Amino acid sequence: MSFLKRREKNPKVDGETLVILDLDGTLGYSLIPEEEAFRKIFELTCRKLNRNCDLEIGTEKMEQFYKEAKKTHYELHYLKPKRHNKRLRLKIFLDKIQENNGVRFDSGFLDEIYKVYWDYFGAHAKSYPDTCKTLEKLMEKSIVVIATNNEDEEAEIKKKLFGLEAGKHYKYMFTSDRLGVCKPAPEFIEELMGCLEKDLGHSVSNKRVVVVGDDPRVDFAWAKPIGAVTIRVKKDLNASREPSSEEEKPDFTVDNVSDILDIV
Ligand SMILES: [Mg+2]
Repeated sequence: MSFLKRREKNPKVDGETLVILDLDGTLGYSLIPEEEAFRKIFELTCRKLNRNCDLEIGTEKMEQFYKEAKKTHYELHYLKPKRHNKRLRLKIFLDKIQENNGVRFDSGFLDEIYKVYWDYFGAHAKSYPDTCKTLEKLMEKSIVVIATNNEDEEAEIKKKLFGLEAGKHYKYMFTSDRLGVCKPAPEFIEELMGCLEKDLGHSVSNKRVVVVGDDPRVDFAWAKPIGAVTIRVKKDLNASREPSSEEEKPDFTVDNVSDILDIV
C-alpha cells in the first residue's frame, strides 16, 4: 500500500476534494483553555504543598516542573498516541515534584487535579462561531475528515464540546489511537490514507487534497509530499507562532474557519 507512489503515478484528479482538518485550535478554541487549566493545577498544587508539607513553592517553579514533565512525556512516547494523555502527563508532573522535594502526595491527588483540569477545560473550550456551519457546507461538496493527535477519549470530549456530529459535520474522525502515530511524523499521511481508504472502501489517490491546521510545527510539512494544498487558520494559542522553516509554511493563511470555503 502506498498512497504516495500511486499519487505520483496518477496525478489526475476526479473533481472531488478530500479535506483533512485538525481539531484543537483549528475547529475550536482549546489550547488557551488547556494552558489555563494547567495554571489552575499549579496553583492548587502550591496550596497543597504549603498546607500539607509546609513547603513554599511558587507557581513559576511549578510551571518549570510542568515543562520538564511535558518534555519527559514527549520523549517517553515520541510521536505516539500516549504523548497527549493528560493523566499520564499529570502523573509525571507530580512525580517530578516528589523527586525534587522529598514529598509524597496522597493517592487521591492525581484524581483531584485531573478532575480540576477537565472541569476547567470543559467550561472554557468551545468551537468557533462559524465552525459547524462551515463544516456543513464543506460536507456538501467534499469528503470531510478530522485527523487529530488526541487519543480516542480526549477526542470524544472535544467533539462534544465543539458540537461536532459525524455525518453532519464530518465523515470520519481519525485519532492517534486509530492511526498509531502522531503528526508531524512523516508516516502520518500513509497511516491516515490507509485507514481512510479502508473505511471508504475505495482509493482516494485521484482526489485533490486540502489540509487545514493551526500549528505550523505539526500541521503542514507531512502533507506536502502528496501535493496537498495547506491552509492555516490563525487562531487560539498558535496565532502568534511563526513558521520556523519553508516546510512549516502553509500555502494560505486565514483568520476564520469560514474563510477556507473560498479556497476549498
Ligand atoms: Mg491544532
